[in-house]
Amino acid sequence: MINYTRQIGVKHNVDVCVVGCGPAGFAAAVSAARNGASALVIDALSMPGGMSTAALVPVLMPVSDGFNFLAGGIGHEMYLRAQESGAMRGGAIHAEKLKYLYEDMMAEAGVAISYNTTLMDVDLDGQRINAAIFHAKSGLFAIQAKIFIDCSGDGDLAALAGAPFEIGDDNGNTMPATLCSLWAGVDWNQYREGKAFSHNDDNMLAILKQAYEQGVISMDDYHHTGMTRTNDQLVTGNLSHVFGINPLDELSVTKGLIDNRKLLREYETMYRQFIKGFQNASLATSGSILGIRESRRIIADYVLTAQDYDNRATFEDEIGRYNFSIDVHPSTPGRLALEEHKKHFRGKAYGKGESYGIPYRILCPKNTDNLLVAGRCVSTDRNMMASLRVIPGCWITGMAAGTAAAISVKNKQKPNQIDVKALQKNLHANGAFLPNFKP
Ligand SMILES: Cc1cc2nc3c(=O)[nH]c(=O)nc-3n(C[C@H](O)[C@H](O)[C@H](O)COP(=O)(O)OP(=O)(O)OC[C@H]3O[C@@H](n4cnc5c(N)ncnc54)[C@H](O)[C@@H]3O)c2cc1C
Repeated sequence: MINYTRQIGVKHNVDVCVVGCGPAGFAAAVSAARNGASALVIDALSMPGGMSTAALVPVLMPVSDGFNFLAGGIGHEMYLRAQESGAMRGGAIHAEKLKYLYEDMMAEAGVAISYNTTLMDVDLDGQRINAAIFHAKSGLFAIQAKIFIDCSGDGDLAALAGAPFEIGDDNGNTMPATLCSLWAGVDWNQYREGKAFSHNDDNMLAILKQAYEQGVISMDDYHHTGMTRTNDQLVTGNLSHVFGINPLDELSVTKGLIDNRKLLREYETMYRQFIKGFQNASLATSGSILGIRESRRIIADYVLTAQDYDNRATFEDEIGRYNFSIDVHPSTPGRLALEEHKKHFRGKAYGKGESYGIPYRILCPKNTDNLLVAGRCVSTDRNMMASLRVIPGCWITGMAAGTAAAISVKNKQKPNQIDVKALQKNLHANGAFLPNFKP
């Protein structure tokens, strides 16, 4: 142990500082700026988009309930512009083009960005974050903001600020992680003829079993999400799992990356050998970060639960509604784990027109005065997180958090003291799906 003391400068002083520029952080920063706040978004990586770009997540989960566009507002705008620019084809994500779109939209809104900048600590004044401390190439510095928004996916800022959190199941097990991958040289028509796509079909399960028994792949993991056609040249893979990774420990994440790269080489052999259309395929690259599905869940003024999912709950302070199935990837490999997942996942899927409400209170962490949270680390129980964590869900909570932050700044109020009706009115006017809000 050493004692380490330094005097550091305040490099930025803004209305709203957003930590993390994934889908949630992007939406939060743009919304704050569009509502008149000076907004700065920080990210440890060298690009916007978080998992949706750096981790090569292949596809967007549902944006609609079959009748209504649920990720209304920024999500809808993003979706339409992505179709136009080729950043998405339907739901399929072209990660490189998606980076450009995130940056274009942030530039248009006047959001300031600092990449390669990592949150390290906070300076607290009671329950208020006086400054957040960052490390970047220029050294250590502080950022002061009237309101901070934690969009780190891992809840790093909220945890440092003293908000309570939970992680994993009752035994601390988290969902497995995945290093997604980008492939070239796939004959997609042949692949479709082969009818071996994912864990949802028997052909693929038979191939996975054979490849495992012959030692081509070293993991008996039958929960195989599969391949998505990115565009006419490229295919993105969400193929393998690494188990027992602690997302808050860099050594555990390092091991996950190394193990997953090894697995990807095995899957390349399996696909070339066993899967029609992949004979001449090449694994071009893997994600630049490990895809983490589960990390801290920050406890806020309300905890959204699987019971709320079952009830298709509505809330007075609703900031949006969503519908993706509860998708808990089993934390162990094997056939039994897959059966358990299928039962859970398929049994609970919503029908057309169904959705659950997302209350504003899940964005307001306990024990904090100038902090909001959005994205994967909002206040839910474990099962509910496995629904709301996907990209459209993060756009919804990000837009609400950014808008709420701007209102807090304007009215000099704590986030949990703002007029929620005014927030809803603003969100509704900007396209959010709020069927229970009567203007
Ligand atoms: C393998 C995998 C497959 C998935 N598949 C799908 C799918 O098909 N469809 C779908 O819709 N969703 C999918 N998801 C879920 C979705 O991609 C994520 O849950 C979503 O991106 C979370 O968004 P976020 O903004 O909360 O966090 P993230 O996307 O994780 O972004 C957080 C950002 O914060 C930054 N950050 C973290 N800590 C710090 C720090 N201390 N200092 C500075 N910056 C920091 C990170 O660098 C990152 O850029 C998948 C996820 C994984 C892992």
